[in-house]
Amino acid sequence: MAWPWWAYVLVTLGLTHVTIAAVTIFLHRYQAHRALDLHPLSAHFFRLWLWLTTGMGTLEWTSIHRKHHARCETPEDPHSPQQLMKQSSALRTACAMREELVTLWSHSSASSEQLVKELQDWCQRVERSGVRQLQELSLRLRSYSLN
Ligand SMILES: [Zn+2]
Repeated sequence: MAWPWWAYVLVTLGLTHVTIAAVTIFLHRYQAHRALDLHPLSAHFFRLWLWLTTGMGTLEWTSIHRKHHARCETPEDPHSPQQLMKQSSALRTACAMREELVTLWSHSSASSEQLVKELQDWCQRVERSGVRQLQELSLRLRSYSLN
């Protein structure tokens, strides 16, 4: 007997929810911060669940998270988006180009022709950026037609 499509959706959402709860309750609150107590059976269930569904190791996750809090927004922070931005010129370029695109599309008073011209200029700058993903985006945008 085949399950209806919505049963697959419900099971997927349920399994995902258990994994999210395991990360939040077990890894973050219990292991990393010792902010709550868990019954040993609950702790073992969460550890086993995470190992089976994600392959994450409790000790590794906990140590990285504690380092994140201890070295927050320093070069040694393993989760700092600011540090990542400092290290990646491609990411800085992508963020700058994204801001330009947002500004371009917020010009509600510009004519369609002016918007297309500005988008073409943006595409030319993106193609010269040297960031492959941006160049691919530009090619995809150029493939669309307004007609
Ligand atoms: Zn934390």
